[in-house]
Amino acid sequence: MGKTTLPLGPRLYQYLLSVSLRDSSIRRDLRNETDKLEFGVMQISPEQGQFMALQIRLIAAKRIIEVGTFTGYSTLVMAEALPEGGRIITCDIDREWTDRAQHYWERAGMANRIDLRLAPAVKTLQSLIDAGEAGCFDMAFIDADKANMLNYYELCLKLVRQGGLIMIDNVLWGGSVADESYQSEDTKAIRRFNSFVHQDERVDISLVPIGDGLTLARKR
Ligand code: CA
Repeated sequence: MGKTTLPLGPRLYQYLLSVSLRDSSIRRDLRNETDKLEFGVMQISPEQGQFMALQIRLIAAKRIIEVGTFTGYSTLVMAEALPEGGRIITCDIDREWTDRAQHYWERAGMANRIDLRLAPAVKTLQSLIDAGEAGCFDMAFIDADKANMLNYYELCLKLVRQGGLIMIDNVLWGGSVADESYQSEDTKAIRRFNSFVHQDERVDISLVPIGDGLTLARKR
């Protein structure tokens, strides 16, 4: 016991939720509605959302950039962890998903903290850098198309301040990253990303086996 990460079967996972998850009816409704969608599996798990919210409070983040809004669950959870006056810019290209998101942000009274940018995220991030916003963010969360993972990472590394945190989702990709029989473009892109960040001396890192795998990278 203790030398490796404990495998989390359904019973232990339910126990974990039962003794640690702090939920709200709005969050639950948003998760349930998203679960019914074709790509509902893309939503982060509730305990991962709570973990991310804790990171925000630990570093007292006030400005966050999110790459990949989807139906806005992670956006909502992060917005709720911000202090008064905190802001999150969230990037996506899908109006249908983000329309659902906005409905819940409004219901939760969080819409005024959230700035949705409907455009390719590489463009939005670059435009922030061009506008002199490099080093102005405390945190970034990357959870979008995997082909661009490294591009998003490089741009976010410019946008966060020294000591700021970048969180990158899906780094274990259902376990396929460790199984050579999987050679999809997404799997290969995530492997490339993981190997790159492992060697990247600009950041301190930890790969946390929560949800589908979440890497934390703190800018040195
Ligand atoms: Ca994800």
